[in-house]
Amino acid sequence: MKQIEEPARRTPVMAETDVLVIGSGPGGLAAALGAARQGAKTLLAERFGCFGGVITQVMVGTIAWYRTSEKTVDAGGIGVEFEERAKRMGASQTINRYEVLDTEKFKYVADEMVREAGIVPLLHTSTVDVVMDGRTLRGVVTESKSGRQAILAKRVIDATGDADVAFRAGAPCRKDPKHELEAVSVNFGCSGIDLRAFFEYILKNPSSIADWGDRSGAKEAHEFSTYMVEPFDKAKRAGEIPPDVRLESYWGSFTDAGEIPNLNAIHMSDIDATDVWDLTRAEMEGRQRVMWAVDALKKYAPGFQRARLRTIGASLGARESRKILGEYELTEHDVLNQARFADSIGIFPEFLDGNRIAIMPSTGRYFQVPYRITVPQQVENLLVAGRCVAGDKVSHAATRQMMCCTVTGQGAGVAAAVSLEDGVSCRAVDVARVQHALRDQGVRID
Ligand SMILES: Cc1cc2nc3c(=O)[nH]c(=O)nc-3n(C[C@H](O)[C@H](O)[C@H](O)COP(=O)(O)OP(=O)(O)OC[C@H]3O[C@@H](n4cnc5c(N)ncnc54)[C@H](O)[C@@H]3O)c2cc1C
Repeated sequence: MKQIEEPARRTPVMAETDVLVIGSGPGGLAAALGAARQGAKTLLAERFGCFGGVITQVMVGTIAWYRTSEKTVDAGGIGVEFEERAKRMGASQTINRYEVLDTEKFKYVADEMVREAGIVPLLHTSTVDVVMDGRTLRGVVTESKSGRQAILAKRVIDATGDADVAFRAGAPCRKDPKHELEAVSVNFGCSGIDLRAFFEYILKNPSSIADWGDRSGAKEAHEFSTYMVEPFDKAKRAGEIPPDVRLESYWGSFTDAGEIPNLNAIHMSDIDATDVWDLTRAEMEGRQRVMWAVDALKKYAPGFQRARLRTIGASLGARESRKILGEYELTEHDVLNQARFADSIGIFPEFLDGNRIAIMPSTGRYFQVPYRITVPQQVENLLVAGRCVAGDKVSHAATRQMMCCTVTGQGAGVAAAVSLEDGVSCRAVDVARVQHALRDQGVRID
């Protein structure tokens, strides 16, 4: 690749903090809240204009949609707090045993939680480089409307989803070939729907979880799913949508105003979410597909005849990209065999959704989440939270779930704070102390 040489420059330090969290999705928000509540001076830096990551940028409010059975064992901690807090603030819809977050109002819910915890908020700020002292991370370099500035920190938590910080710091990472990565999605919402007519249609044509998971069990065949493909197939048969375009929709919630705020219908493969050319192509191709999808719904989905496109997500959503190689790699075997770990920072039900595997946690089975999947190899002062934690492809279908991202986030945040209190590295932190602090924060460890 052709290269230019940039002149050496001095970069102003805009802030210094104990714990710096980069990225504010479920993983980053939980990390910042966990660290701040443990008493660490915490700064949360986000590249977009609101906190929440996929929740607020891609309009995905179904943080615990898997909780369909009374037997489902859940994590507790900040993820459940998101649901409870949103409910109290009129920012969610109760469906079955879970809350679907109102992803617009959740922007404000997140602001309030950040404010109350005393976290220093920083929006519109992209992290573009790292400040290293040998193998030790001392901070990051950012770009924003204020220019290129550094933030120094005693501990950094990478919650970018793509392990941007870990990768730039030289921590070993892995990324599958892009044709093997999970599809990215451009989500959209519609208004003007006759919900009565739509639900009558859904009830006459029910779908189950087993309809979309190539790998799912007998119990999944009895679990209702919002999976809907018929209107798109009809449009394809009529020659209105190219036959090779993957269109299959899930919807999470609805409002009295005749809206379905989030339709997750556009699935585009062969996209590397760490490649800006791919991102550009997918955003534009995604919007083209949204137009096809809305037209198909209006024509072939009862209740949608007078509907209109209401929103397109502020960003496409990526499900899988770069992951760190950690002190431990979580495996398919761990997730499906109720793994127990001495360094547990929380639990997550036996729930897999991704890479065409659909296993619902209706049995009461769960695994423990080990601290070591948040600890990258070779780089000090750095932890990772959210979907880029260490693990194999099948375990990713569990750890990428928003609730599990809050488990690794809160665990990493508290561990960063405890390591500072005790003056030890993140790698050498006293896990029993971390577990104690997490229990105090309402996390279930075993
Ligand atoms: C379309 C779609 C539907 C999904 N549906 C569900 C569902 O129903 N239930 C569920 O549990 N999970 C679902 N998931 C998965 C889940 O939403 C994600 O895996 C989860 O949000 C990952 O959380 P995270 O905190 O790791 O990253 P993200 O939520 O992606 O947040 C990362 C944050 O970091 C910021 N960031 C990134 N790079 C930088 C940088 N260099 N500098 C500064 N900030 C940066 C981003 O702007 C973002 O705010 C879905 C995912 C997608 C894409």
